[in-house]
Amino acid sequence: MATVAMRSEVSQFLEGKKGLLIGGQWVDAASGETYETLNPATGEILTRVASAGVEDVDRAVKAARAAFNGPWRKITPAERGKLLWRLADLMEQRADELTELETVDGGKVRRIAGIEVAIAIDHFRYYAGWPTKIEGNTVPVSAPGILNYTLREPVGVCGLIVPWNFPIVMASWKLAPALAAGCTMILKPAGPTPLTALRVGELALEAGFPPGVINIITGPGARVGSALVRHPDVDKIAFTGSTEVGKQIARESVDNVKRISLELGGKSPNIVFPDADLEGAVRGAFNAIFYNQGQVCTAGSRLFAARSIAEELTERLADRARKTTLGNGLDPKVQMGPVVSETQMQTVLGYIESGVREGAKPVSGGKRATGNGLDAGYFVEPTVFSGVVDEMTIAREEIFGPVVVVLPFESLEEVAERANNSPYGLAAGIWTSDISKAHKLASLLKAGTVWINCYNVFDAASPFGGYKQSGYGREHGHAALELYTEVKSVWTKYD
Ligand code: NAP
Ligand code: MG
Repeated sequence: MATVAMRSEVSQFLEGKKGLLIGGQWVDAASGETYETLNPATGEILTRVASAGVEDVDRAVKAARAAFNGPWRKITPAERGKLLWRLADLMEQRADELTELETVDGGKVRRIAGIEVAIAIDHFRYYAGWPTKIEGNTVPVSAPGILNYTLREPVGVCGLIVPWNFPIVMASWKLAPALAAGCTMILKPAGPTPLTALRVGELALEAGFPPGVINIITGPGARVGSALVRHPDVDKIAFTGSTEVGKQIARESVDNVKRISLELGGKSPNIVFPDADLEGAVRGAFNAIFYNQGQVCTAGSRLFAARSIAEELTERLADRARKTTLGNGLDPKVQMGPVVSETQMQTVLGYIESGVREGAKPVSGGKRATGNGLDAGYFVEPTVFSGVVDEMTIAREEIFGPVVVVLPFESLEEVAERANNSPYGLAAGIWTSDISKAHKLASLLKAGTVWINCYNVFDAASPFGGYKQSGYGREHGHAALELYTEVKSVWTKYD
């Protein structure tokens, strides 16, 4: 068990048994297997959680189907909205506890985990308003004597598979719209970060969601996630994670023509013009890449800097990076935590080595951070690379760590072309004081989100998702409801 000082509710939760949530009951995996989850800041084992198998997935799908065909169907849209709001209230009452759990399980900074818990709560509140507003249309068909209208119906049983970088946020981005639409679901948290999802599962039961509406299955993705994707009675998979696993899910879901939505990787360009407020751009570029240690799908990992300001921007960014305090996110002095696991750390360090090998120069960072109590955790120094060209591995592949490459450019047309020269198209940033230039470039960029003079701003109301290999479908807002509903067209001859 962990030795860091934690809130008593958190210690109590960690000491309790953590099973799978199936049909409203917490149960062991059929095999009895469990696995441990760590605090990546300290390497300490926090607790053990159930490690599900294929038969547990089947039980959960049966529970979700029974709830979909039974009690959940009878609950009115207004009551669904109240349940969502009640869950949000319970999460708010437990916000400090959820924040601390999120901090220790994923290696976050507490302040940042707190912001993310608030984002998750907002998401449930936003979707609490939707169940009573999911409307069909009456359609002006040209056939005489015919009434035609559409209904938007829940798609059915959904498998929700989420990554470890924003565990509670990613779970809420899927649970909230799926619940609002009237679906039932099996949530599969990521291996390294199961804890907040399990706690939210407890709160959902307390809120009064009927048994089987929300099921939660922990265990290895290759076994449990894949079993969900292949299960013939799962109607839809909503996945956020790597492009590689996303492609596999697309292939595995073909046999059932399952509905899928995918939020995948990115290598997002963040573009700074010489007429930008430079101090704002430095701060923006820092947060764009180093928020959550760069483990952000929208991370501004390719920093395109106009050649006239590239050197100054690089130096100011590197200076901030050098002054950043790394450590255990429970310590209020700490500004940046570890990456999520030893494997992730090795991957990131491997990319840094490849950058050096290919001729790039780390202006700050460039190695594992050690000393000062960091040795047991998985810390990587915030790294700014100069001397990079577009063809280098570090400029092309998603690193998913605290590593940014600075790429000088000359003109708007040139930077648009280079920014788009990527298999990904998730997000982009533009920093300039020229509004015409900003909108011209925004229209040219192939990205699902474009931020102008800001970065990593999200709202439950605004659609989010990717172009190209960053995925398909849009979460948030009205768009997410389309992912969890089917349209039915009803024809009546009255004449
Ligand atoms: P990952 O390996 O793709 O895992 C994501 C989730 O899928 C985890 O719950 C994982 O479970 C599960 N999984 C693994 N193999 C599976 C399989 N064969 N079938 C079904 N599910 C499977 O990604 P990650 O390493 O956790 O997360 C990092 C990646 O996510 C990055 O590439 C990042 O860009 C992307 N991401 C995208 C967004 C977005 O909104 N576009 C947001 C966040 C992250 P286990 O953990 O148990 O393996
Ligand atoms: Mg963990």
